[in-house]
Amino acid sequence: MNEVKATFVIFGASGDLAKRKLYPALFRLYKKGVLGEHFAVIGTARRPWSDEYYQEIARESVKDLTSDFEVVKAFAKHFFYQSHDVQDTEHYVALKKLADAKDSEFGCEGNQMFYLSMSPQFFGVIVGNLKSQNVVNPAGWSRVIVEKPFGYDYATALELNENITSVFEENEIYRIDHYLGKEMIQNINAVRFANGIFEALWNSRHIDNIQITFAESLGVEERGGYYETSGALKDMVQNHLLQVVALLTMDPPATLADEDIRNEKIKALEALKIYTPSEVATNIVRGQYGEGGIDGRRYNSYRAEDNVNPHSDVETFVAGRLSVETARFDGVPIYFRTGKSMTEKGTRINVVFKNSELGLYDSCVVGKYTAPLQPNVLTIYIQPTEGVSITINGKNLEDNLATDIFPLGYRRPEIEIEQAPEAYEKLIQDALYGDSSNFSHWKEVAASWKVVDAIKSAWTDQSVDFPNYQAGTMGPKAAFDLLEQDGNEWVWKPDVWYRERNLIKK
Ligand code: NAD
Repeated sequence: MNEVKATFVIFGASGDLAKRKLYPALFRLYKKGVLGEHFAVIGTARRPWSDEYYQEIARESVKDLTSDFEVVKAFAKHFFYQSHDVQDTEHYVALKKLADAKDSEFGCEGNQMFYLSMSPQFFGVIVGNLKSQNVVNPAGWSRVIVEKPFGYDYATALELNENITSVFEENEIYRIDHYLGKEMIQNINAVRFANGIFEALWNSRHIDNIQITFAESLGVEERGGYYETSGALKDMVQNHLLQVVALLTMDPPATLADEDIRNEKIKALEALKIYTPSEVATNIVRGQYGEGGIDGRRYNSYRAEDNVNPHSDVETFVAGRLSVETARFDGVPIYFRTGKSMTEKGTRINVVFKNSELGLYDSCVVGKYTAPLQPNVLTIYIQPTEGVSITINGKNLEDNLATDIFPLGYRRPEIEIEQAPEAYEKLIQDALYGDSSNFSHWKEVAASWKVVDAIKSAWTDQSVDFPNYQAGTMGPKAAFDLLEQDGNEWVWKPDVWYRERNLIKK
């Protein structure tokens, strides 16, 4: 691995994300040699910590990643702390001095990575001060990694973007969406473009519909306060889910260079149909969980969770039918659903192909029953299992004219999943190497917000009758009706297994 020389300036250094994700990611990069002796981390936050205490925090957050404590100690010696109020201009003068000193001490050649890991309301003021107090070092490269959410709607995202682009160029801005660091999300490109059989069929002539499920089995737990200000639409759809839609529906990029991939993703996102209020009513379903039980476990209703308004109308579930108006995908429904307190945790994509036009076989044996011929389905398992499967129709043993479903599948072994680089490690490494393929361009963020804003604004005028799905199920009835209206059904039905055994209780 080529070593990268850089000073990191982390805003929000005492926060949960920094301790749980950023320091372990930096440590793994250190062990791999992407970071060597020429790096320094300057952590800033409000608390009055000393360098020694901050180094202890760094050691504590990575100690389980190795048995070699000497490496941990050597790593933590690169960490320095500044107590910093992001609103106080004077503090940036001190920050510049410290950053310059550490740059010379560790030979970082003026390269700087600013990491904004705090509440987004502060992002604008931080970059403004970085500029006005000349913290940005012109000697090397300077990049900024911006945590999510990028704005709360299109207008606030635009304002934030204008603030950031007054200091950094678009190619210096890394808007993070940690889903894009997940192995199987990155694998979508490989599955699509490294396989002639799929590449040739990846269009409206052969694909009947695409289904994307991001299901969580837990409720909001201790995040009720945050969730009340967000809801499933903003928390999951605007960023992670629409990014997956873009990867699945974009045209093939000319090369795998970040700019080529982004350009195609931008085109796909800009081709998403923006719904009118009446189209929102027929294409988008929202839900909120009521109490329920599954497999012996009981779940509260959302309204009974801590820090949640007992009359809350915040959605904990969204499903929808999206339309990508490109020559490749026009007319292909892209169904999605995401929610809390669902039957099982799982992120997966089902690509449902059209049946053969030959019409020679028209039935399939499923257990004791005969069903219509089943479509070929390509499934990409993103988490917790990782893998790919495809169903093929083969001949039924007893009935020469009927078929059986032959599932062909690959699941990545658990040991490999455990050893694979973690999303933050991969993303920070990419940012250090200047590769922005797995970060969102402003135009992607803007296009996504426009889709989400149209839904949100239609909802303000439409009444809801919450709660409308029982915890432990796969969402409200309307989310099933949505597909039924098109003669389709959700391919992934984890609830069926539990229902057959009477394990889902009111
Ligand atoms: P947190 O509340 O745990 O930490 C916030 C940090 O900001 C603390 O270090 C605090 O000292 C600092 N801070 C607050 N006000 C300040 C001020 N005026 N001046 C200086 N420092 C100040 O937050 P977090 O969970 O670490 O999240 C940080 C960012 O990462 C947020 O944008 C969040 O949306 C995003 N994020 C977090 C997670 C996660 O798992 N925690 C996951 C994805 C994205």
